[in-house]
Amino acid sequence: MTPCRRCHGSTTTTLVRADGLRLVRCQRCRTVQLDPESTSLDPGFYEYYAEREDLPVEVLHLPLTTDRLRAVARDLSRRVGGRRLLDVGCGEGQLVASALMEGWQASGIDLSAAAIRICRRIGLDCSETDLFSDRLILGSFDAITMIELVEHVEDPRRVLARVEELLAPGGLAYLTTPNYHSLGRRVLGEDWGPVSPAHLWYFSPRSLRSLVRAATDLEVVALRTKNLSAAALRRIARRRPPVDMGLGGHVGEGFAAEQELRHRVESSALLRAAKAAANGVFSFSGTGETIALLLRKGAIEDRR
Ligand SMILES: [Zn+2]
Repeated sequence: MTPCRRCHGSTTTTLVRADGLRLVRCQRCRTVQLDPESTSLDPGFYEYYAEREDLPVEVLHLPLTTDRLRAVARDLSRRVGGRRLLDVGCGEGQLVASALMEGWQASGIDLSAAAIRICRRIGLDCSETDLFSDRLILGSFDAITMIELVEHVEDPRRVLARVEELLAPGGLAYLTTPNYHSLGRRVLGEDWGPVSPAHLWYFSPRSLRSLVRAATDLEVVALRTKNLSAAALRRIARRRPPVDMGLGGHVGEGFAAEQELRHRVESSALLRAAKAAANGVFSFSGTGETIALLLRKGAIEDRR
């Protein structure tokens, strides 16, 4: 059996996909993770940005997503004084653009050259820089965001510790990641969109909290789960066969279907109210599709 990549504890299988991709859960630290022996990631995986390079900004940055990201940026700006924001794994720059609209001095980094070319074309301050590059100055950011990033990285502890040292005292870190504890995952099982060779880690609210505690002195300001899974709703309604989410839900037909359904949900006032109520329940039960975590680096005097 594959040992846990986080704590070297022994693991047990928790999910097997038809193509053999296997997720295992550590018996010691409880973290669900990809069994690297069961699958390998196509080396060209992150090149999907290259196919999107010539798309107009209206297509790259969908208005509903911008609205949601602006709300995140607005919330962060109410909680911290400074305005220097770094988005790690900025992709096509939608969070950076949204944060600019909310008054942040926002910049982004990503390892995909094609993604950075897209950001630059739009006029964003983004660069092909590794999080561990010495070009990033310690203590120089008031907010660091990581949208759906932590599940991709080899060593999430090291990434969180790095975020902590890049934050200014009192600075905030905001991250999101798919929720393995979600209703969507329970309903869809192996068809759950986030199950992907690109996702090495599958956190629950509990395992994410324990990771933060183990890796950093960052204080958990808020942890909530949110959103319904459109694919799970469809499965429950049994109107359509399960949607193939494609490349881990980033691009492709499944993504378009998700966006379309999301648009329909957002456009109906009644459905919006129902969704808000459901999000309340998910928040309470911890079974929403996405975990959103807000962390704060203690002010220096707090540590004495
Ligand atoms: Zn473990």
